[in-house]
Amino acid sequence: MSANLDLSSVEVRERRLKSIISYNGTAKDLSDKSKSKSLNIRERSYGQCSDCAQGCGQVISYTIRGAAVIEHSPIGCSAPAVSALGINVANKARGLPPQKTNVLSTNLTEKDTVYGGIEKLNATVREAKRRFDPTAIFVQSSCAAGIIGDDIESATTALQEELGIPVVPIFCEGFKSRIWSTGFDASFHGILRKIVKEPKKKQPDLVNVFNFEGSDTFTPLLAPLGLRVNYVVPLSDVHQLEELSEAACSTHICETLATYPANALEKYYGVPEVKAPPPFGVKWTDEWLRDIARITGKQDLVEDYIAREHERIKPELEAAKEKLKGLKFYIFAGDSYAHSIANMLLDLGVDLIGVTTLHHDQLTDGGEESIDSLGNLVNSHGDVPNFTVCNKQPYQVYKILTKLKPDVMIVRHMNMAVLGAKLGIPSINDGDVNISAGYDGLARLAERLYQASKAKKLFQNVAAHTQNPYSEWWLSQEDPFYFEGGHQ
Ligand code: SF4
Repeated sequence: MSANLDLSSVEVRERRLKSIISYNGTAKDLSDKSKSKSLNIRERSYGQCSDCAQGCGQVISYTIRGAAVIEHSPIGCSAPAVSALGINVANKARGLPPQKTNVLSTNLTEKDTVYGGIEKLNATVREAKRRFDPTAIFVQSSCAAGIIGDDIESATTALQEELGIPVVPIFCEGFKSRIWSTGFDASFHGILRKIVKEPKKKQPDLVNVFNFEGSDTFTPLLAPLGLRVNYVVPLSDVHQLEELSEAACSTHICETLATYPANALEKYYGVPEVKAPPPFGVKWTDEWLRDIARITGKQDLVEDYIAREHERIKPELEAAKEKLKGLKFYIFAGDSYAHSIANMLLDLGVDLIGVTTLHHDQLTDGGEESIDSLGNLVNSHGDVPNFTVCNKQPYQVYKILTKLKPDVMIVRHMNMAVLGAKLGIPSINDGDVNISAGYDGLARLAERLYQASKAKKLFQNVAAHTQNPYSEWWLSQEDPFYFEGGHQ
């Protein structure tokens, strides 16, 4: 189902994309079952931890330059504001000036859940305008605001009229979805409804690149085709978001992150979405460049460019393959980006012994097969064994890792590297995804993997001084997914 900007909120991924949070099998089996949408969310009788859609909403809205964010929530929901303090490290890596993060909370209390929180919301939005003079204000809903039914839509419409800047509601209540990536969609939905404008003119050399706070690696990748990059949304300003509709096309570093806004821009403004897989790995980079060249009319440049790049990078990749020979790798990352890392590792010819993704979308927004990242992985490299889906449950990952015993683990979230480190497995965080993009990105990833493999002794020392918290009973169980089989 595609975006419907007439609705105030986006439909959650469980319903829209038939997403699931657990699976145990192989990549091909999961891909085949996803084609018939035959998998359902299985109930788990024990959960160790979780994330929240509001957190993913914050990843997008906190990082918009010049904007302010109101958390219409109890104060605890604003805890991720602390992580936004690292934003200027990302700005430095991108070559941008520092920016401030402007966040206020309405600090909903028990009394507000009885009498309503709209007056507090109105006062807090006005205070944000007075204090920060922002170019837009985002209002994030929360479990508490959603349960008591505060009419945030009407309040933000009236405040926008009063203050003369976009006041954007983001409906990302944590309880609504078990797939925290729904929070990305909620933020993009708000931006598409309230910020993006009708194009004043088309910019035929501008490519929207939906990414996180990564380095500027897409400019060198697209400059030989005479194209410019509009990095969105983190670190961009409101003006860049207004002009999303003027670009020649949209692409993204990860289908999980951004097929929703890319598909909506195509539907509402005719901005084509690049339908090739993202540029992670040699063949996928070739296909991605060809699709962008087709859309932007640069076919006369692209084949020479690809041939030159293959020639240039070949010796480096051959040397990397030699260095990584014999090592066993395991990936633990978000849905589509895990597929991209797997594609890169298999391009490097390594032994990929398992992958765990944090959820799995059985569909993509728009439903195009060519941007089905798992399907693309299976088509490119065949089956991958030990393919699991697990929403970050450490007790399950512990069992998967002790069974597979990889030489190196690659994760996409810093806090998950700890799980490997405690078991003596060299673990690296592919945090700045952009640096793995393109031909040079593959060579850079290979070098990081090699360096990690050399640090085995260090990680073994960490493991020797670590106690695992699990009982003998749990350690003796065979099945990491025991609590999903109806067991209590
Ligand atoms: S929105 Fe709900 S799930 Fe998310 S942090 Fe707040 S209370 Fe927790």
